[in-house]
Amino acid sequence: MGINLDEVTSISRDVASQLDQRLKVVSVSTTEGGGDRVEVLVTVAGCHQEPCLHLLNVSRVGTEALEEQIRATLQRSLKAHPVA
Ligand SMILES: [Zn+2]
Repeated sequence: MGINLDEVTSISRDVASQLDQRLKVVSVSTTEGGGDRVEVLVTVAGCHQEPCLHLLNVSRVGTEALEEQIRATLQRSLKAHPVA
């Protein structure tokens, strides 16, 4: 079954704050149909691009893999939405 939603939320917040304090985890939810994938919605505080919402669809099979997926995706989000 993997990591529960509370843990995914906690891990997402940790990874986000390590990368950039402006990254804010808005919500974490299961994908339709369940399974081992979850959706993490992130925004960049102070970003002027609207809407500033980054949807991460990640697998919650393992903690390390989850952290890596979130880190890689958020790094792309930060490049796409630089904050001056
Ligand atoms: Zn943005």
